[in-house]
Amino acid sequence: MPRVVDLTQSSDDAAPADNAQLRALEDAIRVCPTDILVESVIRLVRTDHTVQRAFSKELVGVSKKRKNNAPAAAPVAKWQTCDQCGEHYDATEEDQECCYHDGELEVDEECFEDHDEDCHGPMDTPANRRDWPENFKWTCCDETTNSEGCRTGEHVPKQDKRRRVR
Ligand SMILES: [Zn+2]
Ligand SMILES: [Zn+2]
Repeated sequence: MPRVVDLTQSSDDAAPADNAQLRALEDAIRVCPTDILVESVIRLVRTDHTVQRAFSKELVGVSKKRKNNAPAAAPVAKWQTCDQCGEHYDATEEDQECCYHDGELEVDEECFEDHDEDCHGPMDTPANRRDWPENFKWTCCDETTNSEGCRTGEHVPKQDKRRRVR
């Protein structure tokens, strides 16, 4: 019996989604919890070579910065987060300056004038750091939370916490 190749079916599979479908997918990507998104992308790049090539092009590059004695350009993760300044940066580009504070954030007690820790609770809480950034100062330069960094240097890639043993 001759095998019937259903061309309509296969071309249907490869057809791009219509606009409504595409919008629904984009919305789903935006609200998807990061860990679930990461798992599903990893699953797809392992099983689908087109997806693998597309994501490699987006996310993997070659560092222009060559360390002494380093072997020929090894692939690096292109987009990384700096542990010092918290910014996202392109690790394949050289000469990107990192501006950061190397001290600790401390409460400026003068800014909490009427704050009695016995009845209002501690001054140094994540909520207060977020809501009153001008009430905290860096020990390195005495500037407030969101001031521009007082040190400059190279970005330091944040380690992948998901791989760390807790
Ligand atoms: Zn500083
Ligand atoms: Zn940085």
